[in-house]
Amino acid sequence: MRRLRNVKIVATLGPASSDYDMIRKLFEAGADVFRLNMSHGTHEDIRARHAIIRQIEADTGRPIAILADLQGPKLRVGVFANGSEDLVEGATFRMDLSDAPGDLNRVQLPHPEIFAALEPGATLLVNDGKIRLSVNECGPDFADCTVSVGGTISNRKGVNVPDVVLPVAALSDKDRKDLEFACAIGVDWLALSFVQRPEDVIEARELAKGRAAILSKIEKPAAVKAYDAILAVSDGIMVARGDLGVELPVQAVPPIQKRLVRGARAAAKPVIVATQMLESMIESPVPTRAEVSDVATAIYEGADAVMLSAESAAGQYPIEAVTTMHNVAISVESDPVYREIIEASRKAKRTTVADGIVAAAREIAEATDIKAICCFSQSGTTVSLVSRERPRVPILALTPLMETARRMCLTWGTHCVLTEEQDRFKGAVISAARAAREEGFATESDQIVVTAGVPFNTQGTTNILRVAPCDERLIHRVDPE
Ligand code: PGA
Ligand code: MN
Repeated sequence: MRRLRNVKIVATLGPASSDYDMIRKLFEAGADVFRLNMSHGTHEDIRARHAIIRQIEADTGRPIAILADLQGPKLRVGVFANGSEDLVEGATFRMDLSDAPGDLNRVQLPHPEIFAALEPGATLLVNDGKIRLSVNECGPDFADCTVSVGGTISNRKGVNVPDVVLPVAALSDKDRKDLEFACAIGVDWLALSFVQRPEDVIEARELAKGRAAILSKIEKPAAVKAYDAILAVSDGIMVARGDLGVELPVQAVPPIQKRLVRGARAAAKPVIVATQMLESMIESPVPTRAEVSDVATAIYEGADAVMLSAESAAGQYPIEAVTTMHNVAISVESDPVYREIIEASRKAKRTTVADGIVAAAREIAEATDIKAICCFSQSGTTVSLVSRERPRVPILALTPLMETARRMCLTWGTHCVLTEEQDRFKGAVISAARAAREEGFATESDQIVVTAGVPFNTQGTTNILRVAPCDERLIHRVDPE
């Protein structure tokens, strides 16, 4: 089963997409990666969806990536005696540590570390930034604020504190439990919410112990500032536009999106553009023109993946949403202007042997009639380098490691195939040719480019490039043992 597009689609699962039939239809419509959101649902829900995805993987014979998204230190107010209150502009309102039910004058904010970090003049945002409170005075257990933008505040609404780097642990107790649970059932990617510093990523990596790759969600101003350092210690990036657009003015998000996408591609790490991409499709079978344009823009920019959140998790039209993304991708990727943009932003500097080999592989493939670049990889690093080149021909990622095949499902343009362990280059060429034929990329009369590292089964040794026929008899005739 071959996808006819390069950009990947991440679909979040939820109540609207929790049984085998629906998840299978989402996969068939084009979802390459499924996101399990640890902020919602019990461990049992997550375990059941995970098992279904693995079943679909077995039934279709295609690797599928599972991304577990940790909630992170999401701050929330306590509860109100009346369930909610309407705050009006100009009124005063207090946040404090008391667990007494809130009223029109105050509510609990059960996070002493916020009060410790707050300063007069700081802004507190409630309910996705709809309500703005400006801090007048604060102490270790309270903040007296003026309502600068009013609205309805209700039980356990989220709070954002954009102006301060909060001295909160990147991983709450819940996150630690969720991380262990996710790694134990076996996920491929862990997404970290509200990353503020590179240390946050390093901490998660230590807990994951190599069981999952780490994706940093950039959704705090502090993370935007520390982006290069965070990127350096992450395996992938999510442009988490939902919280980013609350913590920063919404108009700041598009330039940040561009910068994050470029940075990640330069580092050969997958980057997902996320949130509200097809928001109206939660309730409508057709997207707005502006949403279609937003998905297209992310693809033109060179993102590895575009993501659906509530559209696939809780909306009425999950399959239509995936199909829409797929169709937009096909349309954009066949536009000659897309190629121009993607090629103009290709990294020119090559510093390693692997860099040189993947660049040569692309040039040969594009200069002649080559059907695919077949890349043997243990860790997936070389596949990421080929992907960064954004070649015009398909990339076949060949690996004996299922974890690698699954992780690579997030990477632009890669079609992952599990192969047996290789120990001879000739055997590798034969399996590459077979995979290219069986997966529908080439016929016997075609040629492919193969990259590999000899000796086999050691990481980071890509040192061979071979133009090979797909006809096994010819390989036997010309290739040395
Ligand atoms: P969330 O992250 O959906 O977990 O909040 C994405 C975002 O903030 O955009
Ligand atoms: Mn978020």
